[in-house]
Amino acid sequence: MKKLSLLGSTGSIGTQTLDVIRRNKDIKVVALAAGSRVKELAEQIREFQPELACIGSEELAKELKILVGDLNVKIVYGSEGLIEAAVIESADIVLTAVVGMMGIIPTIEAVKAHKDIALANKETLVTAGHIIMRMVKEYGVNLYPVDSEHSAIFQSLNGENPRELEKILLTASGGPFRGRTRDELANVTLEDALRHPNWSMGKKITIDSSTMVNKGLEVMEAQWLFNVPVSKVMVVIQPQSIIHSMVQFVDGGIMAQLGSPDMRLPIQYALYYPERRFLESERVDFYRLGQITFQEPDFETFKGLKLAYDAAKKGGNIPTALNAANEYAVSSFLDKKIKYLDIADMIEYAMNEVEYIAEPSIDKILETEQSVYELLKKKW
Ligand code: NDP
Ligand code: MG
Repeated sequence: MKKLSLLGSTGSIGTQTLDVIRRNKDIKVVALAAGSRVKELAEQIREFQPELACIGSEELAKELKILVGDLNVKIVYGSEGLIEAAVIESADIVLTAVVGMMGIIPTIEAVKAHKDIALANKETLVTAGHIIMRMVKEYGVNLYPVDSEHSAIFQSLNGENPRELEKILLTASGGPFRGRTRDELANVTLEDALRHPNWSMGKKITIDSSTMVNKGLEVMEAQWLFNVPVSKVMVVIQPQSIIHSMVQFVDGGIMAQLGSPDMRLPIQYALYYPERRFLESERVDFYRLGQITFQEPDFETFKGLKLAYDAAKKGGNIPTALNAANEYAVSSFLDKKIKYLDIADMIEYAMNEVEYIAEPSIDKILETEQSVYELLKKKW
């Protein structure tokens, strides 16, 4: 039986992962980690009976201990606890579904502990792709993408020769503001931005989808996962979210993966690769769907996407600057402290102002994160 450690178990990806496991009944959950939702975590512990559970703080850990006092589970907390969950001896695979740069260290530690990785947390590869991809090779572990686009690319490359790949066609829904001009976005509210047309996800990624920074992060992730320069990653708007991404080969042939928008498919594929399992989900009905349409992205309105291409080309710690500024800006926007268009402006400012480092170590990546926060705190 495969044994899984799940980081970020109470979130959108986390709960869908547990749904996949609940239905298949042949993966043993050995560790669960969450940030603040103690009650939800306690229920998960009761249902899945892991050896270890981690929560965000010492205070919450005390609460959790009371809730599951009758069960045989070790409770840990904070960033050290999260690492303990990531490296737990009994796990074969770690699914990282925490949000933000906090995913970096546990992912690295899990690789060092020879765990396979199912990666949902995209901020990890964006900021530390150059380190993680090297380590994945060195430690001989497998890295399976969970993000739907990267899973689609991975599925489309199945059995193909990666050297014959000409281009990655990364699809995007365009989010709730597709078709708007920059001026029209000046006064959009938090509630407008949280209304994604096709996917139901955590708040941070929902905002990222509306600004298309999410697509920018995915472009950078694709570059690391599939070892291609960003010039070979092209974003194609496909508003119905039926084509999850495509790859084009040197003979002009294109392979695509299609399906109804349901994250449980890529999650299940990452957990059981190369096997496909039955998944009870909505099937695409082409007669009813009628059409699938395509558009070019609007790089002017969605400046964050253009900035992501710039960051990828500059490399070094600039993708970290973009990501840290975006995390800071999105959290300020969620707290209603800044306006919508400030998000991309803050990213641009941080990318221009931060000191450039060509090959940042993990320490330098984390230092860049802090200096970006300082820069933005002073200016906004
Ligand atoms: P959510 O906000 O829904 O979930 C985040 C999870 O991280 C929660 O379980 C949260 O716990 C946990 N967490 C927060 N702080 C800590 C902490 N200090 N220690 C341990 N766990 C913590 O996010 P999503 O599930 O939407 O996204 C997760 C990642 O996956 C992101 O990087 C996102 O970009 C990526 N992704 C998401 C997709 C989606 O469809 N949702 C699609 C593709 C990628 P709690 O809630 O208890 O505080
Ligand atoms: Mg995605």
